[in-house]
Amino acid sequence: MSIGGIVGVSIAGAVVLFVAFLLLRAALTKPKKRVIVQREEIEFDEEEFAARLSGAVRIPTVTVQGDNTDYTPFLQYHEYLEKTFPNVFAHAEKTIINGYSLVLKIDGSDKSLLPACFLSHQDVVPAPPEGWSVEPFAGEIKDGYVWGRGSLDMKWHKIALLSALDRLLAEGKTPVRGIYCCFGHDEEITGKDGAKNIAAYLLDKGVRFEYLIDEGGSVMDGAILGSEKPIAIIGVCEKGYVDYVLSSTMDGGHASNPRKASSVTTVAQAVYDLSHLPMRTKLTPPIKRMFKNVAPYMKFSYKILFANGDVLAPLLRAVLPKVSPLLNAALRTTFGFTQLCGSDAPNVIPASASAVVNVRINIGQTQEQVKKYIQKAVGKKISVTELNPGYDPTPVSNMDSDAFRVLEETIRETYGDIAVTPYPFIAATDAKHYTKLCDNIYRFGPIEMTTDDQKLIHAIDERVNIKSATKGMQFFKDFIEKTCFQEG
Ligand SMILES: [Zn+2]
Repeated sequence: MSIGGIVGVSIAGAVVLFVAFLLLRAALTKPKKRVIVQREEIEFDEEEFAARLSGAVRIPTVTVQGDNTDYTPFLQYHEYLEKTFPNVFAHAEKTIINGYSLVLKIDGSDKSLLPACFLSHQDVVPAPPEGWSVEPFAGEIKDGYVWGRGSLDMKWHKIALLSALDRLLAEGKTPVRGIYCCFGHDEEITGKDGAKNIAAYLLDKGVRFEYLIDEGGSVMDGAILGSEKPIAIIGVCEKGYVDYVLSSTMDGGHASNPRKASSVTTVAQAVYDLSHLPMRTKLTPPIKRMFKNVAPYMKFSYKILFANGDVLAPLLRAVLPKVSPLLNAALRTTFGFTQLCGSDAPNVIPASASAVVNVRINIGQTQEQVKKYIQKAVGKKISVTELNPGYDPTPVSNMDSDAFRVLEETIRETYGDIAVTPYPFIAATDAKHYTKLCDNIYRFGPIEMTTDDQKLIHAIDERVNIKSATKGMQFFKDFIEKTCFQEG
């Protein structure tokens, strides 16, 4: 055989061996054998839950901003919670922060244990009634759902949490670990008046938390990652956020004798250039952990890729962003173009034009790095300025803490042997304000959500499935009981 032949055979042999290695690893990737005692009985009543949530939805706690200056619904909401959860309020020390945010503190008997913290914002986004098939603040109960603005984001979560806690306290149990419930009132507009002030107040008092639970992940349809069973996703970090204005100033004038370049064409070119120059994708630690945790539950065709995520990283980084915008957002800093501004008149070329790009910064990057990148991409003719102060991504929470382990265990006891995984939360929530108070911040709402359910957040006909939310309430009771009411 010639040297060329020997080389050819060797390469072919190496390729065969490599493919065999990938297939073997995929075949050996199976769910761990675990003893799971799945809970069969739900101790809570669906009708009672639906009635409580319906009552909460009927109080229109729309975030106060702009033309809306009415804070009275927040005061009514506090009264409603106090009336509905008498055991919680009898045991808790109540503090009002900045007028409308609520902190409930229940002492634990073992002072050596750091307290637990549960967040749930009170405010909801506005809901003009057009297009709704129900009145958005009527709290209608029909077809197995509670309908209305805020039902899903996130009043069901608060009602489930407080119902669970109320039940535990009504049973005469005393927590060993202290429990804080912190309910901000302006999460939908960054939490600057609510969560930010609550966190500052707690920090000032020297409070530290063992763990903190907020909204974020859920028990979602596993199809997107090739799992026939649902997947429970727990947000362990939050991307950063900043809005940049890209602007150009040049001679304006009458549109009857235009020059080739104007402020408008320069800004348009900048938008085009930046949208065609996405930042690099990165497999961050939560993403790598997600591949590892979900791979055992995937179809074989997916397993070949994800069980070999370490050796196939370049391929995954290139392919995944094309699979869905959600995966794209989980892997890189994204640029969303939201506003364009030019001339007031159709026949006037403006002296200045601008575009706003909404930037969600990936874990491990900073606003400064991203701004430099954008400036380079759009060139010197464009000035890049912050529209308002942004913030960097949060640190990644501990993915191996005791609290995470109990979260994982309780999820499987509630939903069966499904994949449970950390992931990078791509939107924003109040939890970002608490990073100085806690290393174990988990964004998870115990509810089963289809891809269609996810689209209902902030949308017309927002509603929550009563059966699923009641199961979530049981999850909260079991999780709080294990972590706060049991010794050691
Ligand atoms: Zn929310």
